[in-house]
Amino acid sequence: MHLYTDVGSLQSHIKPFRAAGNKIGFVPTMGALHAGHLSLIAQALQDCDLVVSSIYVNPTQFNNPHDLIHYPRTISTDSQLLESVKCDILFLPDDQVMYPDKSRLKFDFGYLETTMEGKYRPGHFNGVAIVVSKLLHMVNPNIAYFGQKDLQQFTVIRQLVKDLSFPVQLVCCPIIREKDGLAMSSRNMRLTTEHRAIAPALYHTLQMAREWALEMSVEAVRHAVTAHLAITPQIQLEYFEMVDSYTLQAVEDITLYEKVSLCIAAYLGGIRLIDNVFLYPVTRVY
Ligand code: AMP
Repeated sequence: MHLYTDVGSLQSHIKPFRAAGNKIGFVPTMGALHAGHLSLIAQALQDCDLVVSSIYVNPTQFNNPHDLIHYPRTISTDSQLLESVKCDILFLPDDQVMYPDKSRLKFDFGYLETTMEGKYRPGHFNGVAIVVSKLLHMVNPNIAYFGQKDLQQFTVIRQLVKDLSFPVQLVCCPIIREKDGLAMSSRNMRLTTEHRAIAPALYHTLQMAREWALEMSVEAVRHAVTAHLAITPQIQLEYFEMVDSYTLQAVEDITLYEKVSLCIAAYLGGIRLIDNVFLYPVTRVY
């Protein structure tokens, strides 16, 4: 695996591959890699001739400075993992490379950034859009891979790519879970043993909510989810929403929508976890 920290060297490596008609795949991450990240790399390796992954903990997408400071950084293990799955290139820029000047750009994604995550993490998607734009310019991939784990992020990036005509295809990969159902996340390693044991309750609640949704009104499902999680006082529910998987508009009657997602965010011992499931498990978003 080749490791680059500057844009010039990265582009010198990629350019001839692209010129020769090879497909370049890109998987941006913030590191602390787990099997979820590696599933994106595996998909990219299957589809593309050259796979670039980046690791950069992007400060502009952290609305909570404490979260940024404590975000796990495990670069040597990450690098070994990427090498072991035969990722071709690791791009590891620092703040100077990504933000030589303070970024002043402001995006407005309207509803997409005011609902769910956006409501509780002001400025988060602006930071995501800035860093993804920069990375897409730097790497110039044919296909970029993201996870359904961050469904709203994928929706915002889809809008970004359309609005700015980035010549890239986006792929949304399914959520990889631990054996007990907990969605893999870099933040999971910050959970205490007690909280780690409780954490799968989020996924189990989503699974129950999926069944409730087929029999109850959306409002009743919302109440049932809140009541169910209240049994576990260590979990502080931030939001539970049933939304159209493409527009993220809140759904009031599931029969009117083809693709519905059930999305949840909660704190567990000060660690913020998010998860989502499709109402109909065979759903994919593009
Ligand atoms: P992050 O390092 O958290 O910024 O995540 C990098 C990419 O990996 C994002 O596109 C995430 O949606 C994706 N990802 C994170 N966790 C998972 C997971 N459990 N399964 C699949 N993809 C994931």
